Amino acid sequence: MSSTIPFLDVGAACRELAGELDDAYRRVMGSGWFILGKEVASFEQEFAGYLGAGFCAGVGNGLDALHLILRALDIGPGDEVIVPANTYIATWLAVTYAGATPVPVEPVERTYNLDPELVAAAVTPRTKAVLPVHLYGQPADMDPILAVAARFGLKVVEDAAQAHGARYRGRSAGRLGHAAGWSFYPGKNLGALGDAGAVTSDNEALAEKVKVLRNYGSQVKYHNEVKGFNSRLDELQAALLRVKLPRLEEWNARRARLAGMYLDLLKDTPLLLPVVPPGMDPAWHLFVVRCEQRDALQNFLREQGIETLIHYPVPPHLQPAYRELGFGPGSFPITERIHREALSLPIGPHLMPVEVECVSAAIHAFFANSR
Ligand SMILES: *Cc1c(COP(=O)(O)O)cnc(C)c1O
Repeated sequence: MSSTIPFLDVGAACRELAGELDDAYRRVMGSGWFILGKEVASFEQEFAGYLGAGFCAGVGNGLDALHLILRALDIGPGDEVIVPANTYIATWLAVTYAGATPVPVEPVERTYNLDPELVAAAVTPRTKAVLPVHLYGQPADMDPILAVAARFGLKVVEDAAQAHGARYRGRSAGRLGHAAGWSFYPGKNLGALGDAGAVTSDNEALAEKVKVLRNYGSQVKYHNEVKGFNSRLDELQAALLRVKLPRLEEWNARRARLAGMYLDLLKDTPLLLPVVPPGMDPAWHLFVVRCEQRDALQNFLREQGIETLIHYPVPPHLQPAYRELGFGPGSFPITERIHREALSLPIGPHLMPVEVECVSAAIHAFFANSR
């Protein structure tokens, strides 16, 4: 095969919308107003409206979104937050950034998301919140998690950084807990042209607190109620996101069609394919398969010009950054197995169906050769 298939062509969305993005840039440049103005306020309203959420606060990135939610909930030193062992490290970083302690629990092996029964078992008198992640764009099993949280009086903060447009039993991801943190990192389903993030919630006081915390702890300029941070969504990024938001549903539908093709074309291979339980409507941020010969498969695909990625090679509990928590190899065997076997195939709104056929054919060839 001569052509190459990239994992994700981030630039394609920009080329599709080049004229509108140029207009947005010119509008912001011409306004001469770059921080916390009309574009941010409009995007906050439009994104909340898209989700059906009460309130939205634009912030600098997804990590800050989660961190500022925890701060606004007065979660800090001495408090525990239950997190997935199987997640991107940013989920844990938000907890330690707030000074609290992450308490990891294993996922349900075939959905990769937080196991509600293990959440109940991990609750202690110090537990203040649970932080489910909708990993790879598939919603966590929220109803039983919400039931555990209600039983123990815990806050539920959704890490929705991979789940723009995902739905759980007909409800939007990000509207299922007390608040949700969003990332608009360029590679996410809704991506800015740089770093950006948001908090959504139906709780006005919480959203207002995040707006104070993102802006030095001040509501009135030069008057500081609390020690805050500087984490604001830029006017420019907000204007660009306003161009892309109306395309999200269509782009997610294209992802879902490609995921359906993979599920069909790869069903007779030894790969473990994504499982979508009833009631789940994933955003298909990633299409993750599992394979015992993962590294050999990745190398084979690379030789065929097909780019794949690993989400993620090292789980947070085995990162030197979290040495102090005292976990080691074998602490979370399900998570470790997933990290050893997971491989993300190319997927995105601008990937062509013929490219999905090409990737699938190459995978069939790999298994035919290795027999
Ligand atoms: C991307 C991501 C984040 C962090 O978002 P940033 O905008 O990069 O800070 C947090 N959690 C998950 C699951 C993510 O995928």
